[in-house]
Amino acid sequence: MDKKTECEIVQDLLLGYSDEVLNAESKKLVEKHLLECKECQAKLNEIQKDIENHDNNQKKQIDYLKKIRRRNTIKTIFISVGIVFLIFFAFYLRKFIIVNDFMNKAKESAKSNNIYREVSKMVTDDSVAITREWYKDGKYKLHTDIYSERGVENFMTVYATVNTDERIIIFEDAKEVRIEKDESAKMRNEEKNLKPVDSQNYNFINKLKIAFEYSIHTSTYHIGREYYVMNKIFDKNSNDVVWIDKNNGLALRKIGNEVAIKFFEGTDVVKEEILLKTEYKHEFGIVTDEDVAVPDLTGYKIEYVSRDSDGNEI
Ligand SMILES: [Zn+2]
Repeated sequence: MDKKTECEIVQDLLLGYSDEVLNAESKKLVEKHLLECKECQAKLNEIQKDIENHDNNQKKQIDYLKKIRRRNTIKTIFISVGIVFLIFFAFYLRKFIIVNDFMNKAKESAKSNNIYREVSKMVTDDSVAITREWYKDGKYKLHTDIYSERGVENFMTVYATVNTDERIIIFEDAKEVRIEKDESAKMRNEEKNLKPVDSQNYNFINKLKIAFEYSIHTSTYHIGREYYVMNKIFDKNSNDVVWIDKNNGLALRKIGNEVAIKFFEGTDVVKEEILLKTEYKHEFGIVTDEDVAVPDLTGYKIEYVSRDSDGNEI
């Protein structure tokens, strides 16, 4: 065999040699030739380099595919989280719009200078305190009656004027009058305390907070017109329910955690658990000057009282 032919044969075998698939005889032939032939050695190097490049390319391609897959996974996670967040945000935004609306109405209601409020508060399972309040241009009257199986008990009537230090408390049944003239009375006669609307914090942050803390839905039960029902979401120990009047933004009903328990007579078996509720009624523009005028007190036993800042009589 001349050199040229042998080179051709060996070069045909080189690929197989690199892949280590040659039989022992061919392998020996190639190795022997390679020791003597620079040309074929160069060819082998070339082939090995090609193979290496090819492997590298394949690896690069696989890496690239892996990278794309990882990117897609991350994208999917971000999109899912984004969608969940958007849903929550939409719910929250809806609540915020409602809270903002009724609190703005409540703020307007609180600006009125002519307000009548009736508060019906269950004191025990069989007695209810009805407090009626009249407010007109800084003059205020409060009257409380206690209703129970024993009948109506006229509890007291209070008269006060904004920014004075005097409160007149009349006990009709006993024909007694108590006149308080002190710092405590002055504090309670501030406009924000005398106006019979729950003064709240109407600022933006508080609205955000309320929208976050409460679930809100609409109902007509018991009242016959639409109002909002608000429940605390996160406080599992709380029974708090507040109904909000859609018209004036004020509370219609509050139920807290106070419960009256009724037993079957003479036993400790619970017959009924009653959630003590408080109901509110507000009316605007109906209070007259006569409603808030202090009556003639002749014939009443009058007692003057002054207390220090701790509430002790002096
Ligand atoms: Zn050769």
